[in-house]
Amino acid sequence: MDDDLKFIVDVASEYNPRFKKELVIKAYNFAKEAHKGQKRISGEDYFVHPVETAKILLELKADSYTLCAALLHDVIEETSVTKEEVVKMFGDEIAGLVEGLTHIEKIHFKNKEDYTAENLRKILLATSKDIRIILIRLSDRLHNMRTLKYLRPDQQKRIAQETLTIYAPIAYKLGLMKIKGDLEDLSLRFLKPEVYKKITERIKEKREAREKYAERVMEFLKEKLKEENIPAKVTGRAKYFYSIYRKMTKRNVPIDEIYDLIGIRIVTQTIPQCYAALGLVHKIWRPMPGKFKDYISVPKANGYQSLHTTVVTEDGRVLEVQIRTEEMDLIAEEGIAAHWRYTGRERDKRFDQKINWLKQLLYWKSSEDAKEFIETFKFDLFEKEIVVFTPKGDPISLPEESTPVDFAFEIHTNLGKQCSKAKVNGNIVPLNYILKSGDIVEIVTSNKAKPSRQWLTFVKTSKARQRIKQELGIESVRSSKLKEREAQGVLRNIIVESRRPAKLSKCCSPEYGDEIKAFLTKDGKVTIHKADCENIHTLEKKKEIGVRWRVIPKLDSTDIIVVVRDRVGMLSNILTVISKMGIHITSVKSEMRGGRFKLVIGLKTKEKSVVKQILDNLRVLKDVIDAKISDLP
Ligand code: MN
Repeated sequence: MDDDLKFIVDVASEYNPRFKKELVIKAYNFAKEAHKGQKRISGEDYFVHPVETAKILLELKADSYTLCAALLHDVIEETSVTKEEVVKMFGDEIAGLVEGLTHIEKIHFKNKEDYTAENLRKILLATSKDIRIILIRLSDRLHNMRTLKYLRPDQQKRIAQETLTIYAPIAYKLGLMKIKGDLEDLSLRFLKPEVYKKITERIKEKREAREKYAERVMEFLKEKLKEENIPAKVTGRAKYFYSIYRKMTKRNVPIDEIYDLIGIRIVTQTIPQCYAALGLVHKIWRPMPGKFKDYISVPKANGYQSLHTTVVTEDGRVLEVQIRTEEMDLIAEEGIAAHWRYTGRERDKRFDQKINWLKQLLYWKSSEDAKEFIETFKFDLFEKEIVVFTPKGDPISLPEESTPVDFAFEIHTNLGKQCSKAKVNGNIVPLNYILKSGDIVEIVTSNKAKPSRQWLTFVKTSKARQRIKQELGIESVRSSKLKEREAQGVLRNIIVESRRPAKLSKCCSPEYGDEIKAFLTKDGKVTIHKADCENIHTLEKKKEIGVRWRVIPKLDSTDIIVVVRDRVGMLSNILTVISKMGIHITSVKSEMRGGRFKLVIGLKTKEKSVVKQILDNLRVLKDVIDAKISDLP
C-alpha cells in the first residue's frame, strides 16, 4: 500500500466505521493503472490529481462510494476505460457518480462561451441529481485551482473567473465555508495578482502585533464570560484574503483598516447563552450601530446560524464578534459534512439531537445509511426545475415532470404543433414521457401531426397548455402577463389597490384572468371592468385605480402547520406519517420558539380527505402540539 492510499484508508476508517476499505483500495489501484504513463501539465503523474481530489473529500468526511468515484472520476474521460467496465468492477452507484461527473464536464465545456454564470450554475446543479457529484466536482476544482500556476496566463484567468462566479457560490450554498474561502482566495491570486500580493505581505508584516492584541482581548473576554457563568469557548478566526479584498473594494477603504479588524468567535452550548454572551459583549464594549445581525432567529438560506456584532474597544480597535452554539459552529464550518456522521450501524443519536434537524432534511441528500430516510425528499437546490438538452446541446429549463410536448412548445410553437414523436437519449419514447435532468430530447415532426386533447392531460408548462388550447379552439388568448401569472398559480380574488370594496361591473362581467381596469365612482365605490369594455369610454371621467388579480399558489398543494416539541426523531416520525400515505412533500419551513418547532409543510395534494387523514395521524403523535391546514395562501 503506498503512502497516499494508506492515508486515505486511515483517515476514512477513522471517521467512518463502515468504511468499505477493500472497495476503495480496488478503486485506487484500478485508477492508478488506468492513468499509468499520463502526465499533468505540471509534469506530475496524472494520478496525483484524482488522489488529491479524494483527499479533499476526506475533509468533507465523504462516504466510501464518493471516495471511489473521486479516484475514478477521470478514467472514462481520460483513459480507455469504458463505463461498462466501471459498472462491472464497481457497481451502478459508483459508475453513476463517475458518469454524472463526466457528463457535466462535457456540457460545461461545450457551451462555456454561450452561457452566463447563472446558467452554468443552474446546469451544474440540475445535472447533479446526487449531492455527492457536486462535492466531487468542487474538490476536483479546488485541486485544479491549487495547480493552476502551471497553465497559461489566459487559461488561469478564465478558470479563476469561472471558479469565482460558479463554484464558490455553490460551495457557499452548501455551507462549505472552507472550500468556498479557499476557492475565492485562489481565484483572487490569479485574477488580481498585485492585490493578492499586497494583502498577503501586509498580513505577514503585522501578524505578530495583531495576534498579541487578539490574545489579550480573548483572555479578557474569557474572564468576563466566566464571571457571568456563561460556559463558552473563545477563539480568534482566520480571515480569508478574498473577504478582505471584498471589504476593501466594497467600503473603499485601505487594507489596514480592514485587516486591523479582529475577528473573534464565541461558541456556547445553548441558544439562550448566545444571547447572554451578546449582552455581555455589548456591555463591555460599545456596539457599532447597524452592525448587529441575528442569523439565529433568521438563518441564512444555506442554513448558517450565528449572531454577528461589531464593537469598538476602549482603545479604538474594532472587533467583529460571532456568537453561536457548538452545533451551529459545526454546521457553519463543515456545511454538509456536518451531517455526514457515521457510527457503527446506526447514526449517532446524540449527534441527531445536536444538529438542527431540519437542516438535516434540506441538506442531506444521501449517504450510506440515510438513503431510505431521505428518499422521499428532494434536495433543496434541485427542486422545481429540470434542465434538458437539445440534440445540439443547448440547455432548456422546464418545470419538473415536463414531457417532450412541453419541451417542443418551449422551443417553438410550430415544433409543438407538429410534434409527432419524441426521442430521449436516442430512444423513441411516448409523448407523455417524464423528462429527467440531463436528458437529450429530440422532436420528430410531421405535417400531419396536430395537438390533441389528450396532451392537455399531461403537459406541465402553461405555454404548452395555452398553445394547445388555442389550437383546439378551447380558449381565447389572454394577455401574456396574465398567462404568466396563471402559470404561477390560480387567479381568483381581486385585490384593489385601495381599501374600498371591490365591485365587478355587470356590463362586461370580468372573469378571473381577464385584463381588467378599476375606477372610482362618484359615490366612492370601485367598479371593475374588462380592459376592453366599451362602456369605459362612455363613463364619466373617473379616477382610475390600480387593480390586479391576486395570485393564489398552485392549488395542487396544501400547506399544513405542525407545532411540535423538539425531540430526537420527531421530524423523522412526522415525515414517516406523511410518506406512508404516499404524499410527496414539496417544501418544509421551520421556526423555532423556545423548545418548540413550528413547521410549515407543503403537501403535494389538494384532496381534503387525504390532508385531513394526515392531520389526524399527526395529531396522535407524541409531542405534536398542533396540526392544522395553513390558511395563508
Ligand atoms: Mn478532474
